[in-house]
This record gives sequence, structure tokens and C-alpha cells, in this order.
Amino acid sequence: MSEQKKPSMAQNFIHDFIDEDIAENGRYAGMTVHTRFPPEPNGYLHIGHAKAIYVDFGTAEKYGGLCNLRMDDTNPTKEDTEYVDAIQEDIHWLGYDWGDRFYYASDYFDQMYEYAVELIRAGKAYVCQLSAEEMSANRGDVNTPAVSPYRDRPIEESLDLFQRMKNGEFPDGAMTLRAKIDLASGNFNLRDPAIYRIKHQSHHRTGDKWCIYPMYDFAHPIEDAIEGITHSLCTLEFEDHRPLYDWVIDNISAPAKPRQIEFARLGIDHTVMSKRKLRQLVEEHYVSGWDDPRMPTICGLRRRGYTPAAIRNFSEQIGVAKAASTVEFSFLEYCLRSDLDDTAPRVMAVLRPVPLTIINYPEGQSETFEIENHPKHPEMGTHTVTFSRHLYIEAEDFMEVPVRKYKRLSPGCSMECRLKGAYIVKCAGCVKDADGNVVEVLAEYDPNSRGGDPADGRKIKGAAIHWVDAATAADAEVRLYDDLFTDPSPDAAGKDFLAALNPHSLEVLTGCKLEASLADATAPASFQFMRTGYFCVDNKDSKPGALVFNRSVSLKDSFKPKK
Ligand code: ATP
Ligand code: MG
Repeated sequence: MSEQKKPSMAQNFIHDFIDEDIAENGRYAGMTVHTRFPPEPNGYLHIGHAKAIYVDFGTAEKYGGLCNLRMDDTNPTKEDTEYVDAIQEDIHWLGYDWGDRFYYASDYFDQMYEYAVELIRAGKAYVCQLSAEEMSANRGDVNTPAVSPYRDRPIEESLDLFQRMKNGEFPDGAMTLRAKIDLASGNFNLRDPAIYRIKHQSHHRTGDKWCIYPMYDFAHPIEDAIEGITHSLCTLEFEDHRPLYDWVIDNISAPAKPRQIEFARLGIDHTVMSKRKLRQLVEEHYVSGWDDPRMPTICGLRRRGYTPAAIRNFSEQIGVAKAASTVEFSFLEYCLRSDLDDTAPRVMAVLRPVPLTIINYPEGQSETFEIENHPKHPEMGTHTVTFSRHLYIEAEDFMEVPVRKYKRLSPGCSMECRLKGAYIVKCAGCVKDADGNVVEVLAEYDPNSRGGDPADGRKIKGAAIHWVDAATAADAEVRLYDDLFTDPSPDAAGKDFLAALNPHSLEVLTGCKLEASLADATAPASFQFMRTGYFCVDNKDSKPGALVFNRSVSLKDSFKPKK
């Protein structure tokens, strides 16, 4: 869990409604604000859920209220305890807690059944024997009301049939229980919607006790009412369902009267957010798992090196509004970079190494340097690196025939460069193999420049290059990531999202050379590898002696805040 203190959520339109509701004459005057986060346990949580968690838990915190965690498991398909455990872990990691208020919607099946019976008794629900196809053929249109020949069937008959539906006497799809609302309503959700259907399927918690299951629009308001939720915050696609939500609450003997408020879903470019598509990526092995660092899942982002503070900050900054919008992935990266810039120790690691030999430094000699962990935070201290005749530098920091304005090592020019924190060096040639590939770079160092500054104060024109001592270097595999999809909107309706996968989203580098201080690093440690980006220890594959690092985000900022 993040140690950083959470700032209170900025006021948004939901809070304006809540302020009215809890004011002296408001509908919840004197009551505790009570929200809930209701994931369906059929997949892992993603960054869109993180926004909803932020809104649900953050709003409760803002008002000194409560937020429940509820598994919305009324649909018996594809629900799994693996998901239930992962959801809890992810929410805790984000820094939120539900106390002892952890619930399953399926625990309310008995009450939901009773409420359905109550509606039938009041003449407000009936058993309909239209098949799904017949029902949609009889839905009517804007000018024509829907039709059901079963609407006026006697209450006793519906009661009997509903009980027999429950007892398993009928096959799937043979009948439904429908709320009797308004077949001519301009809102089609109110045209006598089905509230129970037959599904002979085991449930991950209730087993074979039920073969009828409540529809979401009927179940959700009941779940909220049973738990005493005041504000049921959900995404915009439920806006047209709100009249039905209110109808259910108003027509059953509900123990509370929750209010539904909708806000815009979060979409992010270059990724998909639908659980069905994420599951397909996992099951068909396009990624290594739900926690593949390229996934927009919370566990994927965690493995990638995202911090809870970065994700919360992102959620805060994108704001809560009614208008749907797609946020750039680079904005998420910007939020991570801002957090890591402040907290990650600076270290040296060479990703694509070439040996560098300091020809005038004695063989067998060695010395140490103290490198600041953070240039802006002296309180973070220093760490020790060793230096000797044999080093590694990045292959790209040497060029035999330099391009114009090249400011690194090259035998073709006498440019002096700093080896960060150590000495000034000048290239003295290179060694090539039979194929003409450079296998070793040679340099001379200035013994009077210990620490990196020349004794005579002369200007050093070349770049400051990172390096690692060959004698003490730790080997590592480093994984570099790019967008999972080349198409900015692979999630758009009707698109073949798999065709938009980026074949270059993962690049694995082996034989990378890290400074010795990283040899014992374990997850969730994050570092800035000087000049190459922010990296974290992989929380699954890294082991002492077989280190694996992930690039969390590059140093360069491709996100340009809009003016
Ligand atoms: P999917 O349709 O992909 O299965 P879902 O919306 O059904 O996703 P749930 O597990 O039901 O997923 O979501 C739990 C809560 O998270 C809901 O209140 C939902 O509105 C919210 N949520 C899901 N996706 C997003 C998103 N992209 N942005 C904001 N909130 C979201
Ligand atoms: Mg859902």
C-alpha cells in the first residue's frame, strides 16, 4: 500500500448532488454517505475500474462515509474465486479498504426472490412465455407499444409459474418474469423488462440451488437497498436504466432508497478495456497473462512498475464528468514519470553493452565512487560504485565515424566525455572482430579528473555517459514495452482488435549490465536507470542471480499538456 497520504478528492458534479442530498432539507439529511464498488468477478480489474474505485471509495472518504465492496455475481457464468481474490488484492494495493463490508450479490438471492413475489402479488410482475426472439419481435417501436399476450394473466397463475420456474420445471428460455411497467414507454427499458430468467447453470457460490437468476436491472437496486447505500455511482451506460432502478426501489418494500448517479467511463487510447477482449488476449496467449506488463489491468500496471500514487493521481487529474472521453496513454505515463522522478533512486545500467577499456588505467587496480541516489533529495543518500580498467558502456555511446554533432566517444574526433561521477575520458580507438564489428572500445582517462571535473577547469564538450564496472556488474534481462496496439482505438465497435496488435510491443534484451548495487534488488523496487528510463524489478520472473527488469516508462515525455 502506498505510504503517501491521499489528498481529498476535488469537488465534482457528483459531490454537488451529494451536498444537496445531505443538506438540512435533503433526502439524506443527517445520514452517512454510503457508496459501493460492485465488480463482476469475471476478470481482473483494469485502469477503468481504478477510476470507478477512486470515485466510489474517494467520495466516501471525502464525506467521512463508507464504501462497500460487493461482488456483483448474479450472473452464473464465468465467475471464479481467482478473480474474487485478485480484485481484493488490487483494491488494497490501490490504497482502499472496505473494512468488514465485503458482500456477494448472490447472498441476496432469497431476498430478491421474495421481492419478485411481492411484485407479482401487487400485480406489478407477470410470467411471460414469449421466447427471447418473440419478445424482441414484439418490442414495438417509438410509435408502436410492445405487446405481451401474458400481461393480464391472473396473479395466482404467475405466482404458481414463478415458483415452478424456481423449482426447475421448465427449460432455459421457456419463460421470464417481467415487471409490469409501461409497454408504450418512450424508454424501452421500461417496456415490461424481464427481471428473472431461467438458466440451468451452477453458480460459483450457490451451486445448484437456483436455476432462475435475476437480471442486473432488478438485482442491482435491491443489492444497494439491502446494504443501505445512499449513492450508487455507476457509469453512463446505466443512465437510461435509472428510471427502472427507481421503479424497482419505489415498488418493493425496500429498506432504503438509494440514488443512482452516472459518470463517464474511462477510455484510454492504444488499448482495450472490455473484460471479454482482455480475457481473449490472455486465453489465446497474445500476452503472458492478466498481469502482462502491457495489459491495462491493475496487476499488469503494478508489474510494469506503476505505483498506487501514480494511478490515484491519474484518476484525480482526468476528472469526473458526464461527457465520455478517451485519455491518452501518454498521460498515464506522465503521471507515473512525475511520481518516479521524485522517488526513484538513480543508478547506472547498460542495456546494450560494449566493453570499454581504459588503456592508461592499471590492470588489477580498482577504486570506488559515491553516487548520489537523487540529485534533488540529498536525504536519500548515496551508494557506492566500483571503477576499474574494464567497463561497459552503451554501444550507441560509441561511433567509429561520427555523425554531425555527435558528442560521445569516437576515434574520429578528440571530444572529451565524462564517465558519470568518475573521470573524463577520450576515445583511443576500437577493436573489431573478423566481421568488422566493434567488440571493444578503447579510451584514455585523465587521472586529474576524479569525480568528473578536470583539475584545470577546461570545458568538457562531450556527453556524460553512464557506465558499469565489468568486474562487479550484475547481469540482467531487461524488457522494453511499447503500445500493445498500433491502432489508437482498437476497442471501437466493429473493429477486429486482434488485427491491430503491435508486433513490436515487447523487446527482450539479455546480457544487460547493471551496477553491483542492483544485484539484490527485489520487487517492488523502482529505479531510474540514468539516461534510459524508469525500471522496476519484475515481480514474477526476477530472482537473485537471474534478474529481470521491466521498463516502466521512458525518460522522455511524449505527453504535451493542452494549453
Ligand atoms: P465489462 O463490460 O468489460 O465486463 P463492466 O463494466 O461490466 O466491464 P464491472 O466489473 O461490472 O465491469 O465493473 C464494476 C464497476 O466498474 C462498475 O460500476 C462499472 O461501471 C465500473 N467500470 C467498469 N469499466 C469502467 C471504465 N472503463 N471506466 C469507469 N468505470 C468503469
Ligand atoms: Mg458489469
